[in-house]
Amino acid sequence: MIADKDTRVALEEQLRTEVANGHPLFGKTIIAIARCDACDEVVFGVEEDPAWFAQVHLTWGSAPDRPPWPDSRRLSLPLADSLLGHHH
Ligand SMILES: [Zn+2]
Repeated sequence: MIADKDTRVALEEQLRTEVANGHPLFGKTIIAIARCDACDEVVFGVEEDPAWFAQVHLTWGSAPDRPPWPDSRRLSLPLADSLLGHHH
């Protein structure tokens, strides 16, 4: 599900809250792209690296998590093919 603008901003803020120094996405400029409606998986793009997309399982905690959490994995391209593998 492609996220609308308000949702994107909220997801980006939440990711920044959860990642601590040592996490692969810490300090990166991240852009929320899509969110699964059925679970808490969110796909983020990394602005510094146009080929870097990460699927992150947000914990919705209010404080930074301990790396490697929140759980994230880098998606291979093309993105559409990677997301086809996400089912419930
Ligand atoms: Zn899902």
